[in-house]
Amino acid sequence: DEPAPHTGEFADPVTGIVVPARLDYVHTPGRAQSAYIKALEERRTVGERCPSCRKVYVPPRGACPTCGVATAEQVEVGPRGTVTTFCIVNIKAAHTANLDIEVPYVYAHIALDGADLALHGRIAGIPYDQVRMGLRVEPVWSEGARHVDHYRPTGEPDADYDTYKELV
Ligand SMILES: [Zn+2]
Repeated sequence: DEPAPHTGEFADPVTGIVVPARLDYVHTPGRAQSAYIKALEERRTVGERCPSCRKVYVPPRGACPTCGVATAEQVEVGPRGTVTTFCIVNIKAAHTANLDIEVPYVYAHIALDGADLALHGRIAGIPYDQVRMGLRVEPVWSEGARHVDHYRPTGEPDADYDTYKELV
């Protein structure tokens, strides 16, 4: 019985496979990000001010991308901030840590008070269809972890568009 050569045609070809994957990273944060991460341990958010344009970068990268100069002056920002823009998420994330988050939920750009760069965060404690630009929010920290779980409304009046329009 001689094996017949294959034609290359399959009646039921495999078109995809699902494979669990995990990627572990070793990250060396450097001077500026180390200060940022250390401050998070105390539930503080620290950025750095550019000596030239005076903008405060959060998280700090150690240099101003506009002026091309090193930043060194540390500035504490927040904890409160303003929603500058947002989206409503309707797809349940496959990420294990997000499995308990019901959709739809809101993910927003938040300009912490004193910061000239918006960071990202989930908004909770308010119906998703009531989140709006200018909404004032404060962080709710994760128990036993050095990161913010989500932001919730402070109850303050909304911020004027002029106060955050450069950060949208
Ligand atoms: Zn600058």
